[in-house]
Amino acid sequence: MARIVVKFGGTSMANIERIRHSARHVKREIEAGNQVTVVVSAMSGKTNELVGWVNEGSKLHDAREYDAVVASGEQVTAGLMAIVLSEMGVQSRSFAGWQVPIHTDDSHGAARITGIDPTELDKRMNEGWVPVVTGFQGISPHGRITTLGRGGSDTSAVAVAAAVGADRCDIYTDVDGVYTTDPRIVPKAQRMTKISFEEMLEMASLGAKVLMIRSVEMAMAHKVRLTVRSSFDDPDAPQIGPDGRPGVPGTLVCDEDEIMEKQIVSGVTLAKAEAKITLRDVKDSPGVAAAIFGTLADKGIIVDMIVQNIADDGATTDITFTVPDSEYEKAVKALESNGGRFEYARLSGSRGGAKVSVVGVGMRSHAGVAASMFKALADKGINIQLITTSEIKTSVLIDEEYAELAVRALHTYYGLDRKDA
Ligand code: ADP
Ligand code: ASP
Ligand code: MG
Repeated sequence: MARIVVKFGGTSMANIERIRHSARHVKREIEAGNQVTVVVSAMSGKTNELVGWVNEGSKLHDAREYDAVVASGEQVTAGLMAIVLSEMGVQSRSFAGWQVPIHTDDSHGAARITGIDPTELDKRMNEGWVPVVTGFQGISPHGRITTLGRGGSDTSAVAVAAAVGADRCDIYTDVDGVYTTDPRIVPKAQRMTKISFEEMLEMASLGAKVLMIRSVEMAMAHKVRLTVRSSFDDPDAPQIGPDGRPGVPGTLVCDEDEIMEKQIVSGVTLAKAEAKITLRDVKDSPGVAAAIFGTLADKGIIVDMIVQNIADDGATTDITFTVPDSEYEKAVKALESNGGRFEYARLSGSRGGAKVSVVGVGMRSHAGVAASMFKALADKGINIQLITTSEIKTSVLIDEEYAELAVRALHTYYGLDRKDA
C-alpha cells in the first residue's frame, strides 16, 4: 500500500466529463489498495475570469477581497470531485483550505504555506475515504482566505504530500510529463524520464509553467517524490513507468544522484513579456545600486536580469535590468520620482523582450556552453540584448519576435530534438 497525493490541474477539471475521467485515476489507485488525497485546481479559465471580475470591480481592490473571490473556483471543483467520486462508489469529502487547515502567512495573493495540520486528512485516509482539498488557497493568521499565487495548486499538493508523509505526489496535467522544452512551441520536444529538482527549479523559474516554482522548492526541501503525468491517459490502462517496467507513467522529478546520465543541456525555456530599462550615467558610488533596486523593491516590483557596466570615466556607469512588461510603467514612475535617492542622466526602456534560457546540471563541469549558445543564436541572425548565467543555466534577452525561432534553434543545436520527429 502506498499513500499518494494526486493533483489535477485546470484542464483536468474543465467540466464534469473531465472531472469524471480524472476521478477514474483516483478510483484505480484506491482499488490497488492505496490511500489517496486529491488536490484540485479550478476549471481551466475560471481563475482568469474571477481575476477579471475583481479588476472590473475596482483596479484598486483590497487584496483580501481578491482572495475571497479568486479562491472560489477551487471550492466548486473540490465539491464536484467529491460528488463524482462518491457516485463511483469511492467515499469522498471535500475540504476548503481553512477546513484542513492549511495555514499561510497573510501576504494575500502570494501567500506562503506555514503549516498544514494532517490530522483530519490522516483520519479520513485511514478510514478509506478520499479527502479532496482545494488547491491554491489557505487561511491567514487572521482567519481570512488567502491564495498562493497563480499556478499555486501544485504547491498545495506538494505541501499536503509532505504533511501527510505521502510516498509520492502525482501531478496530473494536460501533458504526459516534463519535456525538454514547451511541446506547444517545439513539437520535436522530448519527454524526460527523470529531471533533477535543481534543473526543474531553474526550468520553472525560467518560464516552464508545467510546475510552479514554489512546489519544486518544497518538494526538494521535503524530499517529496514528484511525478508529472497526463490525466488524459486511459485510467484503466496498465501503469507502465518511463523505463518500460510497471510503475508511474510520466516524468519523475528527483534528486540529482538518481540521474545517471547528466546532460550538458537538458532543457530550453522561454519567458515572454519582459521589459528592459536602462539608466544612463548613474553616479558610480557605493550604495547606488542598493538605492535603485531598493526603490523598485519598495513598490513590490520584481527585477530579473541585471547588467552594470564599468564606468569609463570612473564617475558614472550605465545599469540595465528587466522587469515584467506589466510592471514597466510602475517601475519607470518609481525611478523617475525617486525622491533624490540616486541620480542618473537618462532613462530609456522598451517592452516586448523574451528571455530564452538553456538549463542543465552538466554545465557545472563543462566549459563553453554560453559561447555555443551565442553562436547558435548568431547563426540565425538573432541579436542578444542581455545575458545572465548561473551554475546550471545561461539566459539571454532577445526581441520577442524571435523567441520561438530561438527556442527551436537551441533545441536542435543541443541535440534535444526527438529522433523520430
Ligand atoms: P495545469 O492546469 O494542469 O496546472 P499548466 O497549464 O499550469 O497545467 O501546465 C501545463 C502546461 O505547461 C503544458 O500544457 C505545456 O504547454 C506547458 N509547458 C511549458 N513548458 C513545459 C515543459 N518543459 N514540459 C511540459 N510542459 C510544459
Ligand atoms: N486556479 C489557480 C490558477 O489558475 C491555481 C492553479 O491552477 O494552480 O492560477
Ligand atoms: Mg499549473
